[in-house]
Amino acid sequence: MATSWGSLLQDEQHLEELARQAMDRALAEGVLLRTLQEPSSSDVVSYAPFTLFPSLVPSALLEQAYAVQMDFNLLVDAVSQNAAFLEQTLSSTIKRDDFTARLFDIHKQVLKEGIAQTVFLGLNRSDYMFQCNTDGSPALKQIEINTISASFGGLASRTPAVHRHVLSVLSKTQEAAKILSNNPSKGLALGIAKAWELYGSANALVLLIAQEKERNIFDQRAIENELLARNIHVIRRRFEDVSEKGSLDQDRRLFVDGQEVAVVYFRDGYMPSQYSLQNWEARLLLERSCAVKCPDIATQLAGTKKVQQELSRGEEGDQAITKALAAPSRFVLKPQREGGGNNLYGEEMVQALERLKDSEERASYILMEKIEPEPFGNCLLRPGSPARMVQCISELGIFGVYVRQGKTLVMNKHVGHLLRTKAMEHADGGVAAGVAVLDNPYPV
Ligand code: ADP
Ligand code: MG
Repeated sequence: MATSWGSLLQDEQHLEELARQAMDRALAEGVLLRTLQEPSSSDVVSYAPFTLFPSLVPSALLEQAYAVQMDFNLLVDAVSQNAAFLEQTLSSTIKRDDFTARLFDIHKQVLKEGIAQTVFLGLNRSDYMFQCNTDGSPALKQIEINTISASFGGLASRTPAVHRHVLSVLSKTQEAAKILSNNPSKGLALGIAKAWELYGSANALVLLIAQEKERNIFDQRAIENELLARNIHVIRRRFEDVSEKGSLDQDRRLFVDGQEVAVVYFRDGYMPSQYSLQNWEARLLLERSCAVKCPDIATQLAGTKKVQQELSRGEEGDQAITKALAAPSRFVLKPQREGGGNNLYGEEMVQALERLKDSEERASYILMEKIEPEPFGNCLLRPGSPARMVQCISELGIFGVYVRQGKTLVMNKHVGHLLRTKAMEHADGGVAAGVAVLDNPYPV
């Protein structure tokens, strides 16, 4: 994997010129984020950070990641329907982790009342890194599976054109043609459209639960646009709006602003800070309804780190902690959180482990072996930062979609990929957290 795009550059000025071209193409293609400073309604945007070059990924690993996606869809769906497994796996976690406990509480309430929802829709993304084996060959290792708000399917549909542009500028036409086309937003929208159709009410809408301030709105709009092209209308509302204007009728059909909702698509609600008391009440209302939730509360729980640990059952706790304390650089400690920036490494991890060692609180964390990919050179482009080549590592995500009606699976597929790349020194964090940037796999 030694091919280095950097060797095509003559000097620093050449790099800057190429970066300028890439940024302008990214802006033109709609690889956009709203800027931090401006309120959500503003028309001030910048490009979403991305790599100047596509990163080399072995085709065999790319194929392998695609090949297992449908099975991961089935696994998530099966776990979500197994209340006993969820209860057993999360029992120690919910004693110590308030957020998981609240989600679990809603899950219990819905089960007790009886689940009104009959159509189930999963839009997930399974993430991997390329572990460098002792013989130097890379292997696919799963980082996590995201079952709620899995993002960047929209922007990832627009980045191939940017990298093709860069390689064309360098007169690498054949190489440009090797960059895979990718359209996750279309596949995700097809899943939503299928669930909407099975819900079976021509005038019902899709309700996108949105955050008040959303920088990544263009990613979401890409999916909305695909739905509108199929004559399916989307309304964006916050949890607060649902709490004020949402209601259920006697059949537990969901209405918001007087309009019936067929599908609820969460792009909010995966972190504790996103819930006020009012928001928890809104979430409960949504879960009690017969609308198709994406995800329903059980599927969100199926995506917790604790469930992932149980599914890949590792060594017993005490033994694993001893190992991690002896070789901290080989492990990562994860709380039950999503969204990046929560994991503990190195000295921080050691301190936490010392503190948690014999306490019950340790059940709210999972300990995972650290994946050590082979670093490579690329240039990370961020608004306001100078372009320069740095040592990087990548994370590959595969988007999966499934729809189930009662016991019958009516859709199960993979719908595209996301490659994110970050400078080697950054342990944690994704694109939204400002660490990783958008990329494309260059299959080799
Ligand atoms: P989150 O739900 O916050 O996205 P992740 O499990 O994806 O949590 O961890 C966040 C980031 O931390 C990942 O994107 C990856 O860069 C890094 N990371 C997580 N697990 C590992 C691991 N086992 N080895 C190396 N890096 C990891
Ligand atoms: Mg992640």
